[in-house]
Amino acid sequence: MQDTGDIEQVAAGFFQLGLYLRSKQWRNAEKSGLTSTQISILGFLKRRGPNRVMALAKLVGITEATASRAISTLERKRLVEKGADPDDGRATRISLTATGIRLMSRQSEFPEALMAALAGLDPIESTVLHRVLSKVILNLQETGAIEPQRMCCTCRFFRPYVHSDAVRPHHCEFVDAPFGSVSLRLDCGDHIQADESVRKQRWQRFLAVKPLERGGTHPEEASEN
Ligand code: SF4
Repeated sequence: MQDTGDIEQVAAGFFQLGLYLRSKQWRNAEKSGLTSTQISILGFLKRRGPNRVMALAKLVGITEATASRAISTLERKRLVEKGADPDDGRATRISLTATGIRLMSRQSEFPEALMAALAGLDPIESTVLHRVLSKVILNLQETGAIEPQRMCCTCRFFRPYVHSDAVRPHHCEFVDAPFGSVSLRLDCGDHIQADESVRKQRWQRFLAVKPLERGGTHPEEASEN
């Protein structure tokens, strides 16, 4: 069990990063004459494509009423539009207009300073960071604190540690190719949620290998079917 003070220091680190990202987002939104909520909605529409109001509200972490107001403003600015949902004729989906797409193509998704700081990590640090972030996000997801994310570790196509190659031990069945822990995705457009029992089994398999202790070969070396 970790010391509470140590855990608080890690939480303080996440908090600082959150403040930094939020302030950058506010400044970017201001430059475009938008609010941070509106730019978040546009960002999710860019990454995930057309979506319902309720889904967007959950992704941004706001109420449906707040999302509806933000979307009305974005509609007036001709950045988004409503259209029929092909999965349900009575429902509507929100999508970016051509103007919205142009605006978002000019927005850098992540601050350059953050990208530079992460690029300065060595491969082992990156591997550990990917693993830690996946674990923290999954824990938050399992307690219902955040919406399900489109991560490798919950994806039906993810096969952890099935290759003996220490650099690329995992396999993505969607693209049928091996990949390394530094390429684990936290928001993948091709993600399909795995059945819960399969997800748990593969996650345990993933956790069984400690990146600092082993080159990447799974201790059991067993193929999983
Ligand atoms: S489809 Fe995407 S989320 Fe799924 S295993 Fe492949 S890279 Fe990961």
